[in-house]
Amino acid sequence: SETHFGLTGLAVMGQNLARNVAHKGFPIAVHNRTTEKTETFLAEHGSEGQFTGSTSVEEFVNALTPPRAIMIMVKAGKPVDDVIAEIKPFLAKGDLLIDGGNSLFTDTERRVKELEAEGLRFLGTGVSGGEEGALNGPSIMPGGSQEAYAIVEPIFTKISAQVNGEPCCTFIGAGGAGHYVKMVHNGIEYADMQLIAEAYDLLKNGLGLTNEELHEVFTQWNAGDLDSFLIEITAQIFARKDDDSDGYLVDKVLDKAAQKGTGKWTSQSSLDLGIPVTAITEAVFARCLSSFKDQRVAASKILPGPTGGKIEGDRQQFIDDVRDALYASKVVAYAQGFDQMIAAAKEHGWTLNLGAIATIWRGGCIIRARFLDRIKEAYDAQPDLANLLLAPYFTEAVGNGQTGWRRVISEAARLGIPVPAFSSSLAYYDGYRRANLPANLIQAQRDLFGAHTYERTDKPGNFHSQWVE
Ligand code: NDP
Repeated sequence: SETHFGLTGLAVMGQNLARNVAHKGFPIAVHNRTTEKTETFLAEHGSEGQFTGSTSVEEFVNALTPPRAIMIMVKAGKPVDDVIAEIKPFLAKGDLLIDGGNSLFTDTERRVKELEAEGLRFLGTGVSGGEEGALNGPSIMPGGSQEAYAIVEPIFTKISAQVNGEPCCTFIGAGGAGHYVKMVHNGIEYADMQLIAEAYDLLKNGLGLTNEELHEVFTQWNAGDLDSFLIEITAQIFARKDDDSDGYLVDKVLDKAAQKGTGKWTSQSSLDLGIPVTAITEAVFARCLSSFKDQRVAASKILPGPTGGKIEGDRQQFIDDVRDALYASKVVAYAQGFDQMIAAAKEHGWTLNLGAIATIWRGGCIIRARFLDRIKEAYDAQPDLANLLLAPYFTEAVGNGQTGWRRVISEAARLGIPVPAFSSSLAYYDGYRRANLPANLIQAQRDLFGAHTYERTDKPGNFHSQWVE
């Protein structure tokens, strides 16, 4: 049968996506800049479906019958532009290019415009779920034009994860919307991971739990409201023994967190939009701070503060408090991420269906969680919800968990255990629920030193005062 779909870039993600497409019965042409990789791939997996290999870009494109749909799975940034430039001369009007990497959404906006002006089609598509998701069903977030999406919808909805019979793939919006939403997904993933790491620190160093006990606690948490992929894999990590010693592998891993940039982009965009996305940003900063290992080791011998102290009192109560702190902070992190998407949609003219976004994140992606059903329900009930915290379910969940949340943060401060994401989430919550903030003083200061003027609580208008005689 004719082959319309091709994929170039056979690293982990590309290989697994190509296999997924082939497993679902779609013929596929594959290509990689370094031809050996294509050959190895076909030798190992060529029997899994209908593959056509190629040794050059020209051969690759010509293996496809128009209208062609070509997925690009290469390193984000300049490589994507290079690959587009190489493929373009061989394309016909109406052909579709799909960038499935983690591209910056502004690059995607530009590429959509440039290619559409030349009669070509372009989809900037977020693909989540790591290599396992790519092979067995990722969450897919396509953005660009509806008609471009229609071309690959039958393939994408088949290869994506399925939850309750629904594909974890839906058209996200125009231009760079797909990559934007994927970026925020990754930002939320950073926050989720940091929150779990803070819970770990408190339970390990504050309470003195062993890896066996941590495994138990996380396994139990995974049976409740916190049920999610990240909690599940965390429980698994605590059970893994080291191959080279008596201990556990997690204790041998160097405490320097790496990052590839999507969390940073989320924070940068939130600052541009003026939306406080504190949990994600603290998570990015926490990774930065973790990377100064040598400085931290030196400072640990110089800077005074509590160390080695332990939680006193009921141990199970503290474990439950940490669970509540984790859940409440997670609600805040998601509320902020969704708030950011609302603001970005306004700024860029996208129509985002937030309930549908929560729906496609329920499977195939790193932040998949039971909790996303609640988010979908919240937006179904109230599509114009100003903030997720105001949805009755979340108002109640955070309200019920806040006593433990506050206790955990004060204990952490007492013991000198840093909990930046827990505490910034609580500060956001307390700020958001305050009718009055001390910003009156800031306005007074600005007016005093810079004549920036201020508004009054009792009458309209802008005022400037002579503050000092
Ligand atoms: P990499 O990001 O490591 O990219 C490697 C691939 O890019 C290779 O096929 C390489 O070809 C190709 N490449 C690099 N530069 C060029 C160029 N100038 N011209 C042509 N080809 C080039 O691969 P991954 O599979 O990890 O990721 C692919 C994309 O998916 C990235 O954008 C990544 O951020 C994203 N992503 C990755 C996830 C993951 O878990 N790894 C999860 C979700 C998204 P060659 O073999 O010739 O060097």
